[in-house]
Amino acid sequence: MNELATTYSPGEIEGKWYKYWEESKFFAASMDDNKPNYSIVIPPPNVTGILHMGHILNNSIQDVLVRYKRMSGYNTLWMPGTDHAGIATQNKVERKLADEGLTKEDLGRDEFIRQVWEWKEQYGGAITNQLRKIGASLDWQRERFTMDEGLSESVKDIFIKLFNDGLIYQGEYMVNWCPRCGTALADDEVEHEEKAGFLWNLRYPVKDSDEFLVIATTRPETMLADVAIAVNPNDERYSHLVGKSVILPLVGREIPVIADEYVDMEFGTGALKITPAHDPNDFALGQKFNLPIINMMTPDGKVSNEYPAYAGMDRFDARKKMVEDLDAQGFLVKVESHSHNVGGCYRCNTVIEPRVSKQWFVKMEPLAKKALEVVRNGKVKLMPKRWEKVYYNWLENIRDWCISRQIWWGHRIPAWYGPDMHIFVAKTDEDAYAQAKAHYGKDVELTQETDVLDTWFSSALWPFSTLGWPAKTPELDKFYPTSTLVTGADILFFWVARMVMFGMYTMDD
Ligand SMILES: [Zn+2]
Repeated sequence: MNELATTYSPGEIEGKWYKYWEESKFFAASMDDNKPNYSIVIPPPNVTGILHMGHILNNSIQDVLVRYKRMSGYNTLWMPGTDHAGIATQNKVERKLADEGLTKEDLGRDEFIRQVWEWKEQYGGAITNQLRKIGASLDWQRERFTMDEGLSESVKDIFIKLFNDGLIYQGEYMVNWCPRCGTALADDEVEHEEKAGFLWNLRYPVKDSDEFLVIATTRPETMLADVAIAVNPNDERYSHLVGKSVILPLVGREIPVIADEYVDMEFGTGALKITPAHDPNDFALGQKFNLPIINMMTPDGKVSNEYPAYAGMDRFDARKKMVEDLDAQGFLVKVESHSHNVGGCYRCNTVIEPRVSKQWFVKMEPLAKKALEVVRNGKVKLMPKRWEKVYYNWLENIRDWCISRQIWWGHRIPAWYGPDMHIFVAKTDEDAYAQAKAHYGKDVELTQETDVLDTWFSSALWPFSTLGWPAKTPELDKFYPTSTLVTGADILFFWVARMVMFGMYTMDD
């Protein structure tokens, strides 16, 4: 007779039974027309990740809900899968390469991507094994990955649809730039923090005069790219200087003094240096006054070659050196302590640099309208209810979404450029070439866009792309819209609101 062990040892028991459950397909979705349906999609964990306590709680809640419905006689689907996590995954593989003394450029794009896939095969499975360990009753036969073939097709489909509907556009805009990751970030991927800093007061000599204009700045290095000084038209201290020019210290360039109501007479000296390439407000003012855009910085945050004295220096080293030079040459008036808001990259914490560059955007307002409506009319319920207010506030003040990322790991934007930079958006190379031939009336060379899409772009399709969209599958018919979503409030905008928007856009007609 077998003795019953006095202590419970999960190692001997849990693994055995989970394997039996999985092999017996107890968690497989049924498709019985006579039963009611219940579905949940898992918030796809990053392939880079391992489960933390938040995942355990979150997935246990989903498991309880699904098991309850399954035992109550529903067709249940709990859809498993993982997210390719663009920047996070690329960072992991770049770090691994760095240990070998290599960069991704050494490998080239194709080889780098091959190595990321290899990394994903080797390490990407940790989290799905952990989910099995906690007994999560997911329908594993349906497991998806945001970069698998089907989902990659869905991404192209919705991109093309949005582009053809005029909801995706490309343009030169001010974006949040992470010099370490070498990519643009969306507004909400920047974490703001009050930091102690300095306000440097610098004097710019007025041309053909003994006068100086004193400006105050928190980022003196950007002065290399100044294109104007702005004052308030009602500011009597400066009215005689409007229309004149000043000579930019260290650079010697002549720049105009302009007047605009936007300038706050109370801040600093009331005179503002205008640097359209490096500040969002200056960018807007530059557009209004048709000022040139001068970029003084390389994508990795160093001073560009146009300024030999500082070329190649890191932005913060250049700041130090330039302040010393300004002081030595008599242009530094004073330095004040000043706490100000500094943005950091949510992936690597590097200080964000506002930067003008060519990016792709989704026009959000038309999409937000429907997403607001379905929460207001109760079709989509947020729990706890207090989050509704936060949701409304975000969607009512929504800005266009910058979806292009200058990294390699992700869904490459399905766009090609003609010789005159005409854009062809297509699912395949052949399609793009055929469109171009029709457009130009002859064969031409095309260049494919090198940017990839924001990771949240593909996760915004998750509830319907995993069910086979754009094909009209029986699964989509039964299980979409999904019944419940259990996720963290911190991704209400990154993910939840965008899923509602894309869902309403694609599935509502
Ligand atoms: Zn970063």
